[in-house]
Amino acid sequence: MVRRGVPPEFLPSSAGSAYVIRAGKLIDPETGNTKDNQSISIKDGRIIEIGDSVAPLAGAESIDLTGSFVLPGLVDAHNHMAITYKKFPENDVYYYTYIQDSTAIRSIQAASNAMQMLSFGFTVVRDLGNNALYADTALRIAIEQGWIPGPTIINSGIIIGGSGGQFQPTPEMAKYHNIVYPEYLEADTPDEIIKAVRQNVMFGAKVIKIMVDSQPYPYTVDDMKLFIKEAANCGGLKVAGHVQTEEGARRAIEAGIFSIEHDIALNDELHRAMAQKGIWRVGTETPFTEYSSTQEDFDKRVAKMKNAFANGVKMAFSTDADYYVPGMTRGQVVINFLKTWKASEIPAKEILKIMTINGYKVSEIYEKRGPLRVGFPADIIAVKEDPLKDIDALRGVHFVMKDGLVFKRDGVMTPERFFHAGPVNGWNIC
Ligand SMILES: [Zn+2]
Repeated sequence: MVRRGVPPEFLPSSAGSAYVIRAGKLIDPETGNTKDNQSISIKDGRIIEIGDSVAPLAGAESIDLTGSFVLPGLVDAHNHMAITYKKFPENDVYYYTYIQDSTAIRSIQAASNAMQMLSFGFTVVRDLGNNALYADTALRIAIEQGWIPGPTIINSGIIIGGSGGQFQPTPEMAKYHNIVYPEYLEADTPDEIIKAVRQNVMFGAKVIKIMVDSQPYPYTVDDMKLFIKEAANCGGLKVAGHVQTEEGARRAIEAGIFSIEHDIALNDELHRAMAQKGIWRVGTETPFTEYSSTQEDFDKRVAKMKNAFANGVKMAFSTDADYYVPGMTRGQVVINFLKTWKASEIPAKEILKIMTINGYKVSEIYEKRGPLRVGFPADIIAVKEDPLKDIDALRGVHFVMKDGLVFKRDGVMTPERFFHAGPVNGWNIC
């Protein structure tokens, strides 16, 4: 039976599982409140009860987190799970990565990146394209079907842009080798825009990602309104826009785009307009480290974050992670973005809310997953120090539960329970 459009009710591997977590300190990131000595009972992947005490659950395993701060999982609202460019041999030029790495190998990289992210407490990832021929949909399905453990994936399918996408291809490669596709889906006219959105939806996209202004022929306000209208027509999807110019940002805001990806073009005036319209700022604020950025760029980025926060813009933690740093996992690369957030001097309580509650909202899952609520899937992490006092506490995630199964305990990954060799639903994009 085809159950198109109906998401899986719970992770197949979660069936029959039962746990009671004893939390020494339970944090609610929405309010910034902490409660002492709370218990959470979990059955078949879902939270059954939370309180000072909970009813005994038959056959439940007790998990002792009495010495820890327990909280819901983290969100990276902009990542690229199925691409990993690197210094050698491609000198960090991802155009060459795309030529070298097949969709098949990139899917397997994505599976590995998913586990690396989950190990660092990221239970939700918005995966915004550059994933070859729908490796992102394959990743999402594989996690939902229980083939591998991983974060909940909100994927975009292929990034849609005007001719060339984000590439500057040679005439030979563009015209004789169709090099732009499938890294980008070209759509220049209204008919092409509708067709491109529908293709992505047909192949499993949960959000529509567009390149607003990466070519000298940016999308117009009307183009973007059409994207928004057609995405809404396709099951109520939202449109995320890569924006790199002030004019592009102005147009995207006027069109009423859902989220602006990257902070490059944003300034006080644009932040005010975004706040007024409730547009998400997914800033991808790269830290200055020995392997990334410069002091000058970092200072600019931090100043922009301060301005966005002061203007009340809806902000999300996001990384644009799509590269390999020798000696670091994708999870380590991502959590190191805390450097930028700390430098912004936004209070730890607010950063934690941005990394959880705001993340669930920009991923559009807030009503069904994320917060620790009865009936929701149990996506729970624990750290030793208080992240409300120092957000760097999140670097020390030693416990991760996803869909009610323990993925990491005492700092060690324990994925065995997740692996499920069925049901075999194939390419079921719902
Ligand atoms: Zn990106």
